[in-house]
Amino acid sequence: MQLTRKGFLGLATSALAAAAVRPALAATPKATDKVMPARRTLIRGADIITMDRTLGEIAAGDVLIDKGRIAAVGKGLRADDAELVDGRGMILMPGMIDGHRHMWEGMDNGVIAKISRSIGNYNEYKLRTMVCYRPEDAWLAQYASAIQAIDSGVTSVIDYCHIFHTAELAEQGARGLIESGIAGTFCYQVSHSPTYTAGDTVRMADANAMRNAPADDIHWRTVEQLRARVFTGTDGLIRFGLCLSPGMNGRPMKDLAAEFAKVRSYRPHIVAQHHHRAKAVLAPDLFNQFEQLGPAGLLGPDYHVTHGNGMTDAELAMCRDTGTMICSTTMGEHSYPYPSVHGRAREMGVAVGIGVDGALAFTHDYFQHVRGAFYNLFRTDEGKAIAARYQGEDALDFVTRLGARAIREEGVTGTISVGKRADLLLLKTDRINFPIVGPLADRVANYANQPDIDTVWIAGVVRKRGGAMVGVDMRALKARINEASTRINREGATITFL
Ligand SMILES: [Zn+2]
Repeated sequence: MQLTRKGFLGLATSALAAAAVRPALAATPKATDKVMPARRTLIRGADIITMDRTLGEIAAGDVLIDKGRIAAVGKGLRADDAELVDGRGMILMPGMIDGHRHMWEGMDNGVIAKISRSIGNYNEYKLRTMVCYRPEDAWLAQYASAIQAIDSGVTSVIDYCHIFHTAELAEQGARGLIESGIAGTFCYQVSHSPTYTAGDTVRMADANAMRNAPADDIHWRTVEQLRARVFTGTDGLIRFGLCLSPGMNGRPMKDLAAEFAKVRSYRPHIVAQHHHRAKAVLAPDLFNQFEQLGPAGLLGPDYHVTHGNGMTDAELAMCRDTGTMICSTTMGEHSYPYPSVHGRAREMGVAVGIGVDGALAFTHDYFQHVRGAFYNLFRTDEGKAIAARYQGEDALDFVTRLGARAIREEGVTGTISVGKRADLLLLKTDRINFPIVGPLADRVANYANQPDIDTVWIAGVVRKRGGAMVGVDMRALKARINEASTRINREGATITFL
């Protein structure tokens, strides 16, 4: 497990106290298992899906990694001092991008499954468990979930963090994500002020009101603490972001505008929010429909919409013209009344990606979500026409080139291009049912699975090699998350909702 020195030293509490928060996951890793700093590396002879429009697919090509970036792409490259990786017979592609995931839920994977005899109530689950987290649980949940994401080929993620209701929880949650080695943005939601705890009796209406209340001073102080202690610069792999408070619908537009302004005053890389189509506009001065945000001047290249199901063409044009981003959580969108917009949005030139969303309810095999993005198009006639034109590269676009644009990282990641960060996946193709013919992107989009991922680089650092996560004792990690999850859910069950 890599310890982030800068993060350690930045703690106002003692290093010993900080160490006590971290679970001992890899007490004695073998020397070969240690996470090594980014090295000059030459990957040779791999079949490459660059997703770079000028480079396309390259058979038996080479990629040189230097100082965490892609230094050269081509054939017959030489770098005598570089570590050599034999990519022959394998597929090299950009690391994948998840535009919306509630990372803390990864620890509870399976507690509420979509295909299940015991479908739980998500809202009630959240109201119970959120008050039972300890700071070390926050660190662990975020760290473990990020390890799960990297293991499945996700190298950048927008973490929509909507549970950690104290500054200490939020800080440890952010640190867990940072110390996993994943890239992306930690978006802290300015919400949730529960006053109940384990063993209490509370009216459900009151608990929901605490969940949906607008941001207050507690949340702004947390934001200031995160800014002062964790996100002090702009050079980290994890950027600082914020989510607006959840209960937007029905709020006066002027109050909403004030919250947007306050949130933006902290200079977040991303301002995130869930949006679902409402049946009607309530009144012009009360918010309940996305279309009201454009004329109010609240959209912009930092604004990140999750779901956005059923957006009209006019709303999609608003997104395109303001640089507003969208993330469709394509496996989960089936349960909403309006269809996913990712296909239409892409056609219109909107920065749109996909994401897992509920990390406790969906598979973490991210290739399944890529296929979900394709099959989800068949819900509408317009989507069917779009799907008819798709090739493998179009489906992969949502998690690579376009996916990067949709998390405001267009110039940074998403393609195998010289100068971009070395976020890369090397896939094995020797499984008997991994196809041997067809364009590389078609083979990956249709048939690749998580176990095919041999190596993952993030910023040139090897995070997975030979199919195993580097520097992580997976058995110990799983035992720790089982223990924490069991305790949190047991304590949560002692709350009585009336
Ligand atoms: Zn969500």
